[in-house]
Amino acid sequence: MRLSRYYAPTLKETPAEAEVVSHKLLLRAGMIRKLTAGIYTYLPLGLKALNNVARIVREEMDRAGALEILMPAVQPADLWKESGRWEFYGRELLRFVDRHDRESCLGPTHEEVVTDLVRHEIRSYRQLPVNLYQIQTKFRDEIRPRFGLMRGREFVMKDAYSFDKDDAGADASYWSMYKAYARIFERLGLKFRAVSADSGAIGGSFSHEFMVLAATGEDTIASCPACDYGANLEKAEALCPPPGEIAPCPPAETVATPDQHTVEEVAAFLGVAAAKIVKTLVYMADGKPVAALVRGDRELNEIKLKNHIDAKDLRLASPEEVVAATKAPVGFAGPVGLAGIAIYADQELALENAWIVGANAADAHLKNVDLGRDANVAAFTDLREVAPGDPCPKCGAPLSFTKGIEVGHVFKLGLKYSKALGATFLDEAGKEQFMIMGCYGIGVSRIVAACIEQNNDEAGVVFPPPIAPFEVALLNLGAKDEAAVAKADELYAALTAAGVETLLDDRDERPGVKFKDADLMGFPIQLTLGGKGLARGVVETKDRRTGEKGELPLEGFLEAFMAWRETVRQGWGLE
Ligand code: ATP
Ligand code: MG
Repeated sequence: MRLSRYYAPTLKETPAEAEVVSHKLLLRAGMIRKLTAGIYTYLPLGLKALNNVARIVREEMDRAGALEILMPAVQPADLWKESGRWEFYGRELLRFVDRHDRESCLGPTHEEVVTDLVRHEIRSYRQLPVNLYQIQTKFRDEIRPRFGLMRGREFVMKDAYSFDKDDAGADASYWSMYKAYARIFERLGLKFRAVSADSGAIGGSFSHEFMVLAATGEDTIASCPACDYGANLEKAEALCPPPGEIAPCPPAETVATPDQHTVEEVAAFLGVAAAKIVKTLVYMADGKPVAALVRGDRELNEIKLKNHIDAKDLRLASPEEVVAATKAPVGFAGPVGLAGIAIYADQELALENAWIVGANAADAHLKNVDLGRDANVAAFTDLREVAPGDPCPKCGAPLSFTKGIEVGHVFKLGLKYSKALGATFLDEAGKEQFMIMGCYGIGVSRIVAACIEQNNDEAGVVFPPPIAPFEVALLNLGAKDEAAVAKADELYAALTAAGVETLLDDRDERPGVKFKDADLMGFPIQLTLGGKGLARGVVETKDRRTGEKGELPLEGFLEAFMAWRETVRQGWGLE
């Protein structure tokens, strides 16, 4: 492709709306343009990057034996009512009514549609297992679409769904997808990690998220440097010794804490460590208040609480709701004497007594509280967030934290949708059974953003070769020099014929502009043809990732180039 005839409208200024580096660079390098909130047009360079990701995803899905289909974006409400999600999916589901008053939605995911397909087509165990996938545009009316392609309302996803006749088969399908995902991210040249993820009510280890490691990631990964343990912070287990004998403490007693609301204030006022104070947090779980207790120096993990009580919807109570539930102003809620509310305590709180808790009265706390003795705790369980340095639940070594961007998710669904929609088959004995399902998503468009979050510098994008819209930028600095033009055309033809995607910068522009644009657009390899080099019979090279410069001879260029290109790819950890 010749840049003189290409459409890559670069911007000098960073658009004010862009907060994260991938969004800024995708706009500045002329790869995407915003139509409206969370909805983008892919310009030629952006679309090429997107298609490169999709191609590798498709190749690995095919290799794993999944079969590509394409399902509709518009889905009938009736199917969502059958699965029960019409009511629960909330406002992320864009709903509308057609001219015949039929309720519909734009698909945010396709469990209902694929299960409907399969229940009508598959009858016998002989037709199982089957894994169907698509690469398709999803719509989710996210509350806060932001960060460009990272969290859009309209975005491209690869979603796959497996159907198996038994549990062993479903597990095999799951691990086959897990392996395919690992290959995909390796082939894309990304640094990534698979971590155990929250799997809601299903539990077990049958949910993994694939995270692209990037300092700017929204997700926190707790991982163990000593073993292979890695988990999303949402899920990371806190290790806790079993409760032993504890000496009884004196009876609970009220202490005045005028105007001391926060843990820090109360700790300073009473001259005790925050770790001796119990934080009482009031939540609304499916409309009912619940109290959750954690040590003053810990953070509550809302997902653990939500899973433990199996709530569909969980949110922090408003100040008015706290007052209504505890009869105490905010900051003084406590578990003792709390009536009509279920109380859940973090497991650590069973290890000791003599806690300090809110007294459910203004300006007062209770000391010498033994939660087992003085409060009506429904359960002591793992409710806290782990912190860096906490022991690894697998081997005990101190955990460390890294940031990541979720780009893929594999999930064993079990019978959830096959039961709701009646997806059954006849087994070997002629008995009707439900199919066991798994679902597997990859954020194809999010990967384009995530790869830039991981790979960029002040000059612009640094694309891994497999994702780069063009692997090579060939800069002809002598656009008006006939000999240079002829040589550039010759190299361009040779590279293209060898299957190396090359963008020839044949514009009549200053060298500085050409270098700047090539850096901004992030092509992994830059080749420069200029007056002096040309006279000496060489082309100058630059590895965009390392910045390292060199030369290749014009005589026997292609062979020398192909060998050097291998070393560039190896630098990316590519085979
Ligand atoms: P998140 O927690 O980021 O909202 P999710 O759990 O809703 O993600 P899934 O339903 O598992 O995501 O979707 C599969 C994949 O689709 C995700 O791993 C992610 O890469 C991608 N994805 C999800 N939501 C968006 C979005 N709004 N924009 C771009 N990609 C997305
Ligand atoms: Mg989401």
